[in-house]
Amino acid sequence: MTTKTDPQISRRALLGTAAATAGAAALPAAAQAGRTPQPTRADVIVVGAGLAGLSAARQIVATGRSAIVLEARDRVGGRTLNHSLGHGKVVEVGGQWVGPTQDEVARLARELGIRTFKTYDRGNYLFYENGKLTPYSGSGPLGPIPPDPTAVAQLAQILGELDTMAKTVPLAAPWKAPNAYDWDSQTFETFKRSRGLGRGASNLIDLATEAVFACEPRDISLLHVLFYIHSAGNRRSPGNFERLISTGGGAQDSRFVGGSQLISIRAARALGRRVMLSQPVRRIVQDRRGVTVYTDRLAVKGEAVIVTGPPALTGLIRYEPELPALRAQLLQRFPQGSAIKIEAVYPRPFWRAHGLAGQVTSDTGPIKITFDNSPPDGTPGVLLGFAEGHDARVLGSLPAAERRRRALECFVRYFGRQAARPAGYIEMNWSAEPWTRGCYVGYTPPGVLTDFGTAIRAPFGRIHWAGAETSEIWNGYMDGAVRSGQRAAREALG
Ligand SMILES: Cc1cc2nc3c(=O)[nH]c(=O)nc-3n(C[C@H](O)[C@H](O)[C@H](O)COP(=O)(O)OP(=O)(O)OC[C@H]3O[C@@H](n4cnc5c(N)ncnc54)[C@H](O)[C@@H]3O)c2cc1C
Repeated sequence: MTTKTDPQISRRALLGTAAATAGAAALPAAAQAGRTPQPTRADVIVVGAGLAGLSAARQIVATGRSAIVLEARDRVGGRTLNHSLGHGKVVEVGGQWVGPTQDEVARLARELGIRTFKTYDRGNYLFYENGKLTPYSGSGPLGPIPPDPTAVAQLAQILGELDTMAKTVPLAAPWKAPNAYDWDSQTFETFKRSRGLGRGASNLIDLATEAVFACEPRDISLLHVLFYIHSAGNRRSPGNFERLISTGGGAQDSRFVGGSQLISIRAARALGRRVMLSQPVRRIVQDRRGVTVYTDRLAVKGEAVIVTGPPALTGLIRYEPELPALRAQLLQRFPQGSAIKIEAVYPRPFWRAHGLAGQVTSDTGPIKITFDNSPPDGTPGVLLGFAEGHDARVLGSLPAAERRRRALECFVRYFGRQAARPAGYIEMNWSAEPWTRGCYVGYTPPGVLTDFGTAIRAPFGRIHWAGAETSEIWNGYMDGAVRSGQRAAREALG
């Protein structure tokens, strides 16, 4: 797999081979192959079979109403995607981790019989700075923050300040924060510079921004960052910055047995022939009588439609009547982040024997963050590295062989010569995926939340908007996607 979906994955997800290896059953092949006449009318039509769309359809069907899900790809799961390692084992090339307070995705997984296991997090982390590799304990007072003595105090100060500011940002309406205009008039970079940080602390803020948003501090509004921090929690335990970047107890706490895509595979299986693959929605027409959703081959009629997925992609659909001006302009200003997920497979996780957790924080790209992404039983060993923001944009433009060389050079820098010759090499550039065009999530540059934010969820007639980017809680995450689907279903059902 390089820049596009592994055809094996698509076929297996569709026909159930991957499902079999991962313990799930198939989508009904007959319906997908067109042998059964496909339904062309439902109470609610859902665009997209990611976690938001499938959660919406599940909720609609649970109330006794009918739903049809139209998915552009030949697989379900959207930004979650399993890659087979053979012998029934998988790693994810898209979203994967789940953590405390991500209650809705956890509940959905439980309902579908999918268990979790802890992310491997034992042993020392590694900090690479100025050409020097330093092991350190990731369970220190500042969690995963490396032990740069000059940086730690500054970081503690700025993260505390950010958490305090974040609490004042209303999740349902960030533009109503007391300082919304001030905070939305500057990038996160401007804010960072105003705090006079030293080089070490500044680098770590850059790295955290890349890790969480897959963009650079210069790209993103301070108000968006504060909203996102607050959003990383539930009603009982509001979010904080440390939760976003932590493994144990944080957003990277656990993984799903069988891979996160299994949630969508099983949810789609339960919905059966209501889920139609390879049906890119091109046009949505609404009037007093109802709504008609056109793909290349179908015209599906309903009372309402829920459109999911990255906001930028929803702008590629033609709407009749045209979208309101504010929504149309919002879509011109809501970019996706840039990330390439790279995984090197070894017979064993050899770093564990050296007392290492597999987690790196580095000032040198293109891979500055790594994790141990081995299956639950630890075999084979999988090192996961992220190229994010600027690094992903540069790396993604290089030939495949050069991308691989540069990525493995990073793994060798951190874990030694044993990392040089993996048995397998997997990479996924989500910016190159036509039905995603970037990850992990859409973010807003300055001026967008304050002037266009009201259009993020506002229904347009019979059209309702869902997707991780529309969630108040765990915005941008699988949990947010599930919550957004549930909310849009409630809206659409009136
Ligand atoms: C590399 C990576 C790592 C991530 N890591 C994590 C993580 O560890 N934990 C976490 O919680 N989250 C993570 N995320 C984010 C998480 O995966 C997403 O927030 C979530 O899966 C989004 O779900 P969604 O349903 O909102 O959107 P999507 O998954 O994007 O689903 C939208 C669906 O709509 C389809 N679609 C789009 N346009 C059309 C059209 N016109 N017609 C028909 N269908 C259409 C798409 O094909 C897609 O299937 C990560 C994402 C990536 C890519």
